Amino acid sequence: MFFTVKRFLKSEYAERINSQDQKNLALLAKVFPFKVSRYVLDELIDWRNYDDDPVYRLTFPRKSMLSDRHWNMMENLSSVEEEKKVVNLIRHSLNPHPNGQKKNIPKIGDRSFGGLQHKYRETVLFFPAQGQTCHSYCTYCFRWAQFVNLDEHKFKSKDHKDLYDYLLVNPDVTDVLITGGDPLFMPNKTLFSYLDVLTMPELSHIRSIRLGSKSLSFYPNRFLGEEGDEIIYKLKQIIKSGKHIAFMAHFSHPNELSTEKVTRAVERLRNAGVEIRSQAPLIKGINDNPETWRDMWQKQVEMGIIPYYMFVERDTGAHNYFSVPLFRAYEIFTEAYSQISGLAKTVRGPSMSADPGKVLIDGIVEYEGAKHFVLKFIQARDASQINKPFFAKFNENATWLDELEIEEDLSDNSVKADGYFSLPQNIYFNS
Ligand code: SF4
Repeated sequence: MFFTVKRFLKSEYAERINSQDQKNLALLAKVFPFKVSRYVLDELIDWRNYDDDPVYRLTFPRKSMLSDRHWNMMENLSSVEEEKKVVNLIRHSLNPHPNGQKKNIPKIGDRSFGGLQHKYRETVLFFPAQGQTCHSYCTYCFRWAQFVNLDEHKFKSKDHKDLYDYLLVNPDVTDVLITGGDPLFMPNKTLFSYLDVLTMPELSHIRSIRLGSKSLSFYPNRFLGEEGDEIIYKLKQIIKSGKHIAFMAHFSHPNELSTEKVTRAVERLRNAGVEIRSQAPLIKGINDNPETWRDMWQKQVEMGIIPYYMFVERDTGAHNYFSVPLFRAYEIFTEAYSQISGLAKTVRGPSMSADPGKVLIDGIVEYEGAKHFVLKFIQARDASQINKPFFAKFNENATWLDELEIEEDLSDNSVKADGYFSLPQNIYFNS
């Protein structure tokens, strides 16, 4: 069972939080999407200390996510019309559509493929309409605009033909990521209908199917019982046919790996031959310390999950509330990374999924008394830029790429090392 704000506030669970938090939640859920699964409420949140609990913080919005001004506006609403206006104004002020995602919608001639994104040559993202929701919503979600009434910002498609037609004429594409929301929210029948498109003989160039999902964290029952039997069988068949299936899991905190249900779900997926990789953003108040990441990566290795990415929180939604300065993100990553064995060092980060590509913070160096960030693309719209380090002036307040000043001339002086170079700034900020 899943709880909307109304259902939650009417349920026995509401009594576990104080009356002020109940009132705040009712107001906040008008702006931010709110949904939470019974599994999260029953098995992941420690209600004795809910205010500090990382999974409570992960799923329940709080007052400080809004600026004082916006909070006052919400508290003083006088009519339904005003509420609509104010909510809309606040949502639009929260950068609902970060990092040039609209630019990624592909076209063939005049035909636009609105449910797809194609940013990197090998990989296409597909947004099935029925998967544009999740088993619970994360307070820091970077796709929150998908879940609220900001129609012009939605990416979704229920058109199998779009998926088929686009891939048929793009033989360079080897990977398709089915994403959302959470595609595992779809019933098996619907999910399988899309998987069947990807396994058609004409699309034999599709070698890997990725499923981007937080279901292992929010609803591991999805892989247990009869419904679970069906999906495990289906995935096994696809793997037997020669395709690779990568489950792009989203774990934000080691507590999400602690239940018997998630252990069993992971085991079943692995036994079917599915590779599970794990990624999550670094979020203030939820996982902004090295011990949390160290423990999470270590536990993942023990469970057979491959640590994959630590992301920098994107500049959308309550970014001011959740973001961690880039230099601190680098420190947290480095400290955690230095305490894990080589098996967990598959993880990459901290990485910004920005408009031009995935930018890794690769180091902080000092030269002539000044500090600099060392950055590099690990994925890029322009593949020629990948894996070539470049520099930005150190800025202790910067939380995202566009707050950094890229240095064009550092590579001309003696700090230059083989392979280091710099690029014109307009390459990075041309959106
Ligand atoms: S699971 Fe992903 S898409 Fe769903 S709310 Fe969380 S971050 Fe957003």
